Amino acid sequence: MTTSPFDPQSELNENVRSRFYIRGDWVLPNSTGTVSIVSPTTEQPFLSVPLANHRDVDAAVLAARKAFDTGPWPRMSAEERSVYLRRMSTAIASRLPLLSRLWTAEVGAPLWFANMFTPTATAMLDYYAELSTSFAFEERRSTRGGHARIVRQPVGVTGLIAPWNAQLPILAYKLGAALAAGCTVVVKAPPETPLDALVVAECAHEAGLPPGVLNVITADADCGAYLVAKSEVDKISFTGSTATGKIIAKSCAERTARVTLELGGKSAAIVLEDAGLESTLAALAPFTMPFSGQICFAQTRILVPRSREREFVEAYSAAIAALKVGDPWEATTQIGPLANRRQFERVLRYIDVGLSDGAQITTGGTAGDHRDVGFFIEPTVFSGVTPAMTIAREEIFGPVVAVMAYDDVNQAIAIANDTDFGLSGSVFTNDVERGYDVARRIRAGNVSVNGLEMSPNVPFGGFKQSGIGREGGPEGLSAFLEDQAIYMPSELQSAKQV
Ligand code: NAD
Repeated sequence: MTTSPFDPQSELNENVRSRFYIRGDWVLPNSTGTVSIVSPTTEQPFLSVPLANHRDVDAAVLAARKAFDTGPWPRMSAEERSVYLRRMSTAIASRLPLLSRLWTAEVGAPLWFANMFTPTATAMLDYYAELSTSFAFEERRSTRGGHARIVRQPVGVTGLIAPWNAQLPILAYKLGAALAAGCTVVVKAPPETPLDALVVAECAHEAGLPPGVLNVITADADCGAYLVAKSEVDKISFTGSTATGKIIAKSCAERTARVTLELGGKSAAIVLEDAGLESTLAALAPFTMPFSGQICFAQTRILVPRSREREFVEAYSAAIAALKVGDPWEATTQIGPLANRRQFERVLRYIDVGLSDGAQITTGGTAGDHRDVGFFIEPTVFSGVTPAMTIAREEIFGPVVAVMAYDDVNQAIAIANDTDFGLSGSVFTNDVERGYDVARRIRAGNVSVNGLEMSPNVPFGGFKQSGIGREGGPEGLSAFLEDQAIYMPSELQSAKQV
């Protein structure tokens, strides 16, 4: 195993390594607390960075509040703001290789995977820069007494909280929409992957964003909860586990703060009887455990017709067994390590539970006997899984997939919907219109036919316990806006006042 070729001292600016970004400046933290970033590949800490305390949260919120209440940002036209968004996107584009390397260093995402998905960040900023120049921030409707102007106002100061798995793309969804809307922002970066958001702050600084519009601190769950509860924060946009989402929703409900929640998933891929085996495997297999299954929309339950169960399990297990597990810095590696020890132990526990519940492992199932360092787990396929088993119900967030058999399409849809989650799903078939009909019956926010795609102009989010609200598309922008209705008198009444 090669050691991490990432060198924080030479690759990262000192500000990113040692400060927070508040009020347009790189400030020394009030807190003396620090957190070590551990390489999931070598299990060695490679950088120690500051961890915020409540006073750091207060400073970031105060800066965002001031920038919103008295600064230029919410008062600019959407076109003016879009110029800053484009500049930020350009600054991020120039750092994409660094941001990809960070993803690999912090989380163990294979470098090719990181290279493929970091451009999501620039795509999101560009999309919102473009959308905001044509979006109806103001609209007129006739009323009995005259007309009303519906003004879409920025919701205010927003707290953005994202998990460790895919900091940059998740942040970009939130940030693009929040900034385009005219909101000011406090980003609470997670302690496991604090660096991406700070590099984004560097880009905002380079783009000349007015002071206080974007503030970035690294903070743990306690400071996250403190941020969520602060009365000066008008909206929380959270991505993370369903358990934390519920805590945040309760806290926001206490003070009627706006909240968007992007939570966990247990998504089902339904393979219909007419689906070609090879084409289905080619399109489906990469999305069952991308990036070691640590993606919320991973298709972790595969539902196959009972008559084709054996054929499918054999072919799919062979495809998964052929994936090359190893050093995420190597170009040929398909599956890297899990992101951290907590994840590693959690996934191994679920594998034990699957076995003791009576499911069979057709490939994988261990940490891999040829590696003595790194949080590696062999990609694992379970067959003989029934809908009641824990591994069919709970989000594992690792490279573990359950294959389940169904007797007819109605049963397949019932199994797909027999879950507390509703984030994603997919249908594989030779008849795409039939696929569409089945997709409409799946209770999930994002369903694809014969593949999986995410596009900046399409809303993303969950039904049921997978979340509340949407990100991406005009829907994602609306989530950072408040509708204000201003009733205007008729021209006749206006004239009478003169
Ligand atoms: P998590 O819920 O433990 O933590 C997410 C973030 O919330 C972290 O920044 C954490 O520091 C912070 N946090 C924790 N407790 C908090 C509290 N009480 N108040 C405020 N902030 C708090 O999730 P995780 O383990 O880091 O991430 C994995 C989860 O994220 C999975 O469930 C996955 O499905 C989900 N996820 C969802 C999406 C989506 O778009 N729906 C995308 C990626 C990940």
